[in-house]
Amino acid sequence: MRSLPLISALPALALVLGLTACGGDKNNDKITTPVAKPSFAAGSRMADLAAAGKITVGTKFDQPLFGLKGLSGKPEGFDVEIAKIIAAKLGIAEDKITFVESVSANREPFLQQKKVDMVVATYTINDKRDKVVDFAGPYFVAGQDILVAKGNPKQITGPEALKGKKTCSVSGSTPAATVQEKYGLSTSELLLVDAYSKCRDALANGQVDAVTTDNVILSGYVSEAKDKFELVGKPFSSEPYGIGIPEGQEPFCDWINQTLKDAVADGSYEKAFKATAGKVIQETPTLPEPRGCDN
Ligand code: GLU
Repeated sequence: MRSLPLISALPALALVLGLTACGGDKNNDKITTPVAKPSFAAGSRMADLAAAGKITVGTKFDQPLFGLKGLSGKPEGFDVEIAKIIAAKLGIAEDKITFVESVSANREPFLQQKKVDMVVATYTINDKRDKVVDFAGPYFVAGQDILVAKGNPKQITGPEALKGKKTCSVSGSTPAATVQEKYGLSTSELLLVDAYSKCRDALANGQVDAVTTDNVILSGYVSEAKDKFELVGKPFSSEPYGIGIPEGQEPFCDWINQTLKDAVADGSYEKAFKATAGKVIQETPTLPEPRGCDN
């Protein structure tokens, strides 16, 4: 088990909330075109998926900017586009991708049970998870932050201020573990639910004082309701997002890492970002150095 290389200092992403609401992404089809008859080593995971002509991907359904199942019934967001880019290089068209909602606590079990072929779901690479699944990437680095009611009535300025307040986060997530383990939140101070949209609703109703998770997820909720919410805006962790795959598929992991690099070179990585999270987060990320697949 190798620990993560330092990918970057605390993510200093400028989370500038644009004026446009984050809507659906109408240019989806132009971001990727499936490769016609790609060729892979016989017996490889890539060859099997290409031959099947379909893939099942775990993603989030309630997180604007990265994975949101909107009125169209199709999930949209940067994670969804990353999955489409990978599928396209396997020769798999968008309509042959089955997206399965994978809330935070379901990601490892879904991969272990092979219920999904990969997970692209704001999924932080860490050693604990790496013991039971494998990760390609990272393809993005977020940071943990705090969402509060507009005007910050409880004057929450950072994670230390969460003691004695009521905070909501999601079971099986790294941000929930961080506020428990590092900032000492007790079970009565931390409400754990299965999906972040429930935390957002609890904050809107005044049932909690704060929501904590990755800045980019929280920014998505602010973009939907700027009059209701604001971000504290001081990230206090590094959350490198990986593409989760079942254990023991190292060549597939290496191939995904190469595919991510190719997506930068052919412009599809940037296009995918601009069409989704980039509508709110104005800085296009640089693809982080891959961590390697021999973990
Ligand atoms: N990136 C963090 C994690 O993987 C928080 C976001 C999430 O739960 O999806 O736990």
